This record gives sequence, C-alpha cells and structure tokens, in this order.
Amino acid sequence: MIQSPLLNNVKGFVAGHWAGARSGKTLAVINPATGEHLADVPDMAGAETTAAVEAAAEALRSPVAAEKRRHWLTETARLLLDNRQELARIITSEQGKPLKESVVEVEYSAGFFSFFAAQLDHLAPEPLPNRIRQMQWTVHRRPAGVVGLITPWNFPLAMLAKKLAPAMAAGCAVVTKPADLTPLTAIALWNLLEQLDVPAGWLNLVIGRPAPIGEVLCSHPAVRLISFTGSTAVGKHLIQATAPYVKRLALELGGNAPYIVLNDADVNVAADALVANKFRCAGQTCVCANRIYVQRDVEQSFVEAVSERVRRLKVGNGMEPQVDIGPLINRAAFEKVDRHVKDAMERGSRRTAGEFSPIPQGDWGAFYSPTVLAGAHAGMLLSREETFGPVIAIETFDTEEEAVAKANGTPFGLAAYVFMRDGERAERFIQQLQFGHVGLNTGTGPAPEAPFGGMKQSGFGREGGVEGLHEFCEVQTVVTP
Ligand code: NAD
Repeated sequence: MIQSPLLNNVKGFVAGHWAGARSGKTLAVINPATGEHLADVPDMAGAETTAAVEAAAEALRSPVAAEKRRHWLTETARLLLDNRQELARIITSEQGKPLKESVVEVEYSAGFFSFFAAQLDHLAPEPLPNRIRQMQWTVHRRPAGVVGLITPWNFPLAMLAKKLAPAMAAGCAVVTKPADLTPLTAIALWNLLEQLDVPAGWLNLVIGRPAPIGEVLCSHPAVRLISFTGSTAVGKHLIQATAPYVKRLALELGGNAPYIVLNDADVNVAADALVANKFRCAGQTCVCANRIYVQRDVEQSFVEAVSERVRRLKVGNGMEPQVDIGPLINRAAFEKVDRHVKDAMERGSRRTAGEFSPIPQGDWGAFYSPTVLAGAHAGMLLSREETFGPVIAIETFDTEEEAVAKANGTPFGLAAYVFMRDGERAERFIQQLQFGHVGLNTGTGPAPEAPFGGMKQSGFGREGGVEGLHEFCEVQTVVTP
C-alpha cells in the first residue's frame, strides 16, 4: 500500500466532504511496474455523481469574486511546486512513467494554474466600439456553469490541470472524474486543494468506473459543459449521449501524429527530437509521433541516427533514476503494441532496434523494448491506428505533395511535426496540414500559454491560451439604449 502525506484521505470529495461509495464498493489501484496493490479507492456511481452535480449547482448560486479565484489559482500553483517530488512519486507509482518525467508533469501542471491566474482580465466585459442602432452593446463572458471534467490515465495531473485551472478561473463549479486506472494523483491534488478554503460544492471529485458517472454528467440538466480528454471512441459516445440535452463539449481526442523529415532537414536534430517526442510516457501520449515519413534520399542516415539513439534507452521501473522508459499501463496496452509490431514485420518491415519483449503474465509488468522499424507502409496497422507504445515505424516518400497527402490521410488531426531548413518551403507545406499543433524543427508539445487542440476526429475546443479560458465561458451580449 502506498503511504503519502498527500493521501491522508483516499476518497472522493463531494459537497465539501470526503466521500466513499454508497455501495461500499472499492476499486484496487495497481502499480504497473511491480504489481503492488497501492490503494483501494471508492467505486462511486450515479447517486454520488448526482449529489456532486447538485452541490456544484448550489455553489454557483453564490459566485466567488475574481480576486478570490486568482488567489486559489496562485496558491494551487505554489502547492503543486512545493509538493512536486511527492506528487511525482504518486504519478510514477500508479502510471509507471519515469520519475523525472513525473516531476516535469507536475511543473507543467503548475504552469496552467499560474498562467490562468494571470488571465482573469480576459473575462472583463467588452463594450463594442460602435453604437449600433444608437445603442450600447456589451459582450460579457459568464461562467459556463457546472462543468464535468473527464481525464485519461497517461498524464494524471496535467490533463486535469489543463481543465481545472481555466474552469476555476472562469468561475465554474466542477465535477471531476479521473481515469480509474490512475485516480491517486487527483486524490492527492484534492488533499492539497482542501488547504485553500474553497466553499463547499465548487470542487467535486468522483472516483469510480466510467459508465454510471458519465451517464449522470451527460444527462443531468445542471451540467452545461463536459470537457473530456481521452479516446475518440469515448468522445463519440459523449457526443451521442449529450445530444438529447444539447450540451457543450470540449473534446481532446486521439491523435495519430505524422513526423515528416524532408531532405534538407538536419537529420541529427530530427533524430534527437523524435526520440524525445516518441518515448515520453513509453509512447503513450496523444501528441507523440505515430507515423514517421522520411524523404527517400535521407532515409538511410535517419534510420541509422534514430536506431543508434534508441539502443541506448533503458527500460525499467520508473522509480529507478537511470530509467528512460517505464512499463505500458497494462497488458492490453502491451498486446496492442505487440500486434502492431508483428503485423508490420509480417508485412515486410525490418527491425533496426529493439528486442523481443516477453508478454507479461498478469496485468502488470508490461515492459516493451523500444523498437525501430524501417520499411513501414500505409497498409500496416501502425500507420492507421494510434499504437500508443514505444515503437518508431519509418516510411519513405518522394515528393512534398506525397508527404502532405500521407500526413493528412487519417481521420485524426491533433499534432504534426515537420523537419526542413527552407523557410518558404516550410510555410507552403505547413499551411496544407490539417493538424491543430505543428512543430517545425522541434518535437515539442503544448504549453499553458498557447491554444492546443485537434482538428477532424481529434476533437474540438482548445486548451491553454486565452482560448482555453473562453472555453469555460458562455457569451452573453447585453444591449441597452
Ligand atoms: P479513454 O477514452 O478510455 O478514457 C478517458 C477517460 O474517459 C477516463 O477517465 C475513462 O474512465 C473515461 N470514460 C470511459 N468511458 C466513459 C463513458 N462512457 N462516460 C464517461 N467517461 C468515460 O482513454 P484513455 O485510454 O484513458 O486515454 C488514451 C486516449 O486519450 C488516447 O486515444 C489518447 O490519444 C487520448 N488523449 C488525448 C489527449 C489530447 O489532448 N487530445 C491527451 C491525452 C490522451
């Protein structure tokens, strides 16, 4: 069992109180590297979620002044940074990623609270400059209301921070549902938030299996917005389930990022950036490169540069300081990666780095050897679906037009990366890409200050930037003579 000063309470939080499941049922949280049973968390369901939504609706009847909300945000950022090592230990214990990555995740998360603390002026009423029909028109941004926040297991803190910080900034009351595989990080955050003296009902946390909680968030009339990060399949389900109630949604869904290296690129820069981008969180990130397209004349040097770097990566328990790649989240994740690699090998690709990874016996210890495959092509599973694992599959192309067509040849449109030196060529190339985030000569992902989100089936809405704050607002126009 995990012991931590940030886990004094291992429960949900409803209407200002720590709360268990009314059924008395619990869910076990397991360390994916060791199989250690870390904790039992409540398996809350519809009744607890309804209570949380009603408490949030009640809280909204007494709005909190902007200065007070700014104080909560600033203090949350400070609490995260003051507790970064302990939070990182909890993230690594339940998620598996290397401790150094967990520390970065905590710092990145704190950045959302401090960024949104500085954005509250963007909520001020905006009088329109012209007196249309001789009247004064003013645009107000009101809090969206009660919002449901649903987050995945790959970044248990960051995916929550991206939503919670702007929701608090905008004056919304929240009902949060973290992934049931990694609920302890959110619980630890709530143990910290308790120090802020937020009145009852503003910050609710519901832990449990997804369906009953999701059902209430989708159907309860008080919930006006659901901000969701996760798979495209669940995103589509939420669209359908909320349609009868005409609810607003902000959806950050799956990616299938292309990584394109043109023949005038600096191959070493592109190789370094790919390894950093691809193996973070063992390749289980929505923004990590999934389809790597390299212009034919630089293929050989690029494959060699990447393979040589990948062979040096160390796999193991993320608690060990030298480890670069932790386990996959569970056996099902391992089997998907394994299926993609076997399919690619059967369809003619060749492995230039990576070893055979033994299939885990139970639902933990799913360590996959970082793998590089050359000779990939569009017929392979790994170029059609998100692999979500530590596998680089390299495909060649001849012309720019072909590269753009391959990159856009997916229903997804979250992140893309392009490597080339010629600036004019880059501008021409990038404006044709149907992706919400594009890195030019860098594999870097989103930042709190910049709007981030998907096109096509990667979702809609933006997180980060002023856009991420306005996502949690309703616009109300007031006109007066
Ligand atoms: P998932 O869709 O299975 O789960 C995400 C969350 O939704 C979890 O909290 C889960 O419990 C919940 N959920 C599942 N079914 C639900 C239902 N019926 N009603 C309400 N909630 C429900 O995704 P995952 O496996 O946790 O995460 C991996 C996926 O997330 C990948 O596809 C990845 O690309 C995507 N992702 C996207 C972003 C982004 O910013 N676009 C970021 C991280 C992850």
